Amino acid sequence: MPEPLQILRSVFGHDKFRGPQEEIVHHVVQGGDALVLMPTGGGKSLCYQIPALCREGLAIVVSPLIALMRDQVETLRQAGVKAAFLNSTLSLPEQREIERAMFTGELDMVYVAPERLSQPRFLDLMERCRLGLFAIDEAHCVSQWGHDFRPDYLQLSILHERFPDVPRIALTATADGPTRKDIVQRLQLEEARQFVSGFDRPNIRYTIVPKRSPLEQLTSFIRSGFAGQSGIVYRMSRAKVEETAAKLCERGFEALPYHAGLDPAIRQRNQDRFLNEEGLVMVATVAFGMGIDKPDVRFVAHLDAPRSLEAYYQETGRAGRDGLPAHAWMAYGFGDVVAMRQMLAANDSDPQRRQIERAKLDALLRYCETTQCRRQILLSYFGEGKGEPCGNCDTCLNPALEWDGSLAAQKALSCIYRTGQRHGMGHLIEVLLGLETEKVCLNGHDKVSTFGIGKDLTSKEWQSVFRQILAQGLMGVDEHGGFHLVEESRPVLKGERKVMLRKDPEAARTRRPKGGTPGMVSAEDEPLWEALRKCRRDLAQRQKVPPYVIFHDSTLLDMVIHRPADLDEMAALDGIGASKLERYGQDFLDVLLSHRK
Ligand code: ADP
Ligand code: ZN
Repeated sequence: MPEPLQILRSVFGHDKFRGPQEEIVHHVVQGGDALVLMPTGGGKSLCYQIPALCREGLAIVVSPLIALMRDQVETLRQAGVKAAFLNSTLSLPEQREIERAMFTGELDMVYVAPERLSQPRFLDLMERCRLGLFAIDEAHCVSQWGHDFRPDYLQLSILHERFPDVPRIALTATADGPTRKDIVQRLQLEEARQFVSGFDRPNIRYTIVPKRSPLEQLTSFIRSGFAGQSGIVYRMSRAKVEETAAKLCERGFEALPYHAGLDPAIRQRNQDRFLNEEGLVMVATVAFGMGIDKPDVRFVAHLDAPRSLEAYYQETGRAGRDGLPAHAWMAYGFGDVVAMRQMLAANDSDPQRRQIERAKLDALLRYCETTQCRRQILLSYFGEGKGEPCGNCDTCLNPALEWDGSLAAQKALSCIYRTGQRHGMGHLIEVLLGLETEKVCLNGHDKVSTFGIGKDLTSKEWQSVFRQILAQGLMGVDEHGGFHLVEESRPVLKGERKVMLRKDPEAARTRRPKGGTPGMVSAEDEPLWEALRKCRRDLAQRQKVPPYVIFHDSTLLDMVIHRPADLDEMAALDGIGASKLERYGQDFLDVLLSHRK
C-alpha cells in the first residue's frame, strides 16, 4: 500500500499535511469511518482523495454539485489520477463506458450524484466492483435543518447496509450541533470518528463600513486593491443585482448578474464565465454560491445585510479558499436594521420558531455593531473560545471607540414617546435638534418637551444613535418606518440600563488606485506575475478548463517568490506534483527564464 505522505507529495505536490489531514487520512486508510467538519478552504478534498489512492479498489465520491464534477475530475486528471464522473450530463454511451471502467478496475475514483446511488441498477454494479471507499461530500445536505437539504441524501444510509465493510468518510463545512447529530444519525455514522476543526478563516479580513452611498463605497473598495480580481457582491433583490451589475460595468469593471429570475441559460453562462475567467465580479442574490469552489475569489462584498451570521459565514467563506489574503467587506446601515426588524415583526410562524429567528437576528446585529474584534464575535457564535483579538478585522486594525450613550438614548426614546410613537427617524431628529420645519410646527412638535434637547449631537450622530438603539432592540419600528417604545425601552428611560454605543468612523476616504495593481505582488514583480498568469490562461483555454485547474494563484506566487531555475527547483514548489511538472513545468520555466534579472 502506498504511503499517504508519498502520495501527497508526488501526486498533489504538497510538502506536508495541513492541520488534521494527516490523522484523518490515516484513520480512513486503515478502514475507519469518519465525519469531518472543516471550514471552507481547510483542505477537505485530500482527506478522501488520498485514502482513495492508498486503498485498494474504487472510491465512490457522492457530491450534489453536478455542475462542479467536471472541474473536480479535471483537476484530479491533471494530477495524474484516474478519475471520472457519472451524471446526467453525460450521454448514455459515455455512462456505460465509465461503468465498464469501474467494473474492470481502471479507475481510482468516481464522482456520482446522490440520486444515482439508490438506483437498483447502480447498486448491482457496485456489488460487482471492488470498492475501497465511500466519500460523502457536503454531508449536511442530509439534514433538514440546513438550507441545502437534498432528499436524495436520505437514501445514502443504504451504503452502510449494503456495503458494511467499505469505510465511509462524510465531509462538510457547515454543521452546527443539531445538523451534526442529524448527519450521524441519518447516515448511520454512530461508530465514525469525528474530526472537528475550528471555524476560523484567518486569511479573510472582515470589514464593515457604515452605509452611506453604497455604490460609491463599493467602487472605491474595489479600486483600493481589488481591480482585476475575482469577487462576489451580494445583494438582497433581483432588481438590486441588475442595477449594481450595470453600474459597475458603467464604471469600467467587468461585472455579471446572477439571480433566480434570470434565464437559466444566461445564469449558467454567467456562472461558467465567473469560474473560467479571471477578474470578473459576480453580482448576485444568495441563489449564487452553493458549491462555488473557485479558489481565487479575492473579495466578497455585502451591500445588503445577510440573513444571519450562518449565512454571512457561508457567503464570506467563498473568499480566499486558496489560503491567500482575501477580504469580506460589508456596507451596513440604518435601512438594513429597519428591514430586518420589520421582517421579524411580520414573521407569523410559531412562537418557538420566532424566538430562534429573533436570536439569530440579534447575533447578526451584535456582530455588525460591535466594537470588539469581529472574528471573536463570529467564532464565539459558532461555539469557539475567545482567544486573542485577531489583528485582521476592521475593529482590530482601527479600534472603534465606545461611548456612553445612555443619555442620548433616553432623549431619543422620550422624543419618540412625546411625539406619539409613530414618526420616523428624520422627523425625530428635526425635533431633537429643535428645527422649526413645517412638519414639526404643523404637528405642534415645537411645543413638546423634547424639542431642541438634542443640540449636542449632529444629525449624523443622531442617525447613528437611532440605528444602534434599534439594533439593540431598545425600540420598535412599524411597517411604515415609524418608531415606538417596547418593553426594553423602560429601563433605559428610567436610567436603570446603561447603553453603550459605537462611534461610527467617518465616511471612508476615497482612495485612488495606485496604478491599478492587483496587490498580490510588488510593482517590480508585476510583469513576471502577469506573464505567468497569461501562460496559465493560454494553457487553460487550450484545454477548455478554468485556469486554477492548471495551477492555483498560490503556486504562481511561489514561482514569483522562489524563482525556480530548473525543473527540480520547480518540483519543490507547493502544488506541483509529478504529473503537472511534466505537463507544464517547462512552459512556466520558460516564462521565468525570460524574466530573469
Ligand atoms: P475545502 O474542500 O475544504 O474547501 P480544498 O480541499 O478545496 O478545501 O482545499 C483548499 C485549498 O487548500 C486548495 O487550494 C488545496 O490545494 C490546498 N491544500 C489542501 N491541502 C493542502 C496541503 N496539505 N498543503 C498545501 N495546500 C493544501
Ligand atoms: Zn479582529
